[in-house]
Order: sequence, then C-alpha cells, then structure tokens
Amino acid sequence: MNGDSNKRTCKWCNEPIKGRIDKSFCDDSCRNAFNNQRNIGEYNIVRNINHALIRNRRILVDLLSDAHPFVKVSREQLLLLGFQFKYCTHYFSTPNGSICYFCYDYGYQPIEHDWFLLIRKKNSFLPDTDNP
Ligand SMILES: [Zn+2]
Repeated sequence: MNGDSNKRTCKWCNEPIKGRIDKSFCDDSCRNAFNNQRNIGEYNIVRNINHALIRNRRILVDLLSDAHPFVKVSREQLLLLGFQFKYCTHYFSTPNGSICYFCYDYGYQPIEHDWFLLIRKKNSFLPDTDNP
C-alpha cells in the first residue's frame, strides 16, 4: 500500500498532481487552459443559439415582407427555409387559448395541423386581429 490510488490527476493534462490534496490542476497554466476551453465551449453554445434565433427571425421577416399583414405557412415550408422550431425568445397564450411563439418581434401561431399564422409584433404582444 503506497497510497498512489489516492493521487489526483490534473483536470487539464491528466498528470498526477503534487502538493495539496485539494488541488485540481498542476499549476495556473493548466487551470487557465482548462477554463479557457470551457469558456470557448459556453460561448459557442450561446453564439449558436443566438444565430439560430436571428436566422428564425429573418425567415419570418422575409415571409412577412409583402403587403399582407398575416401570412399562412406550412411547417414544411418553414423547415425548408431552415427554421428551427426549438428556438424562440418568448411565447404567450392568446385569449382563445392558442399559443403564439416569438423570435424577437416576429412570431407564429399554430392554426391547424402543421400550418402557422405568421405575426409581426406592433405596439402590443397581441396580433392586431381587430383591425385587418
Ligand atoms: Zn496539468
């Protein structure tokens, strides 16, 4: 029994750690390398989701850019354009109980099987259905 089984290894380089038993890294350079790698990973996650949200919004903007205040599109059409339904910024329930999903100021509301009504937010979160 020499106690080697209790030796800790560095979380970055995997070398056995000398010194205090509560250390997780050989030294500051290994700690910094580990933290930098983790920060890059977190940044990539945030960046990828932000890009997906902005892309979703752009798709909605392009579909709504004509003169029509409301546009109906199919799920397939949105998917073909690269829309990612799992990413939205917020949602709310309408008085009739359906849910509007938003990517920033543009959104969509499921209206029937695999069809959506696109919505542009104006002064209120609610679509301006009273004044067509
Ligand atoms: Zn190390």
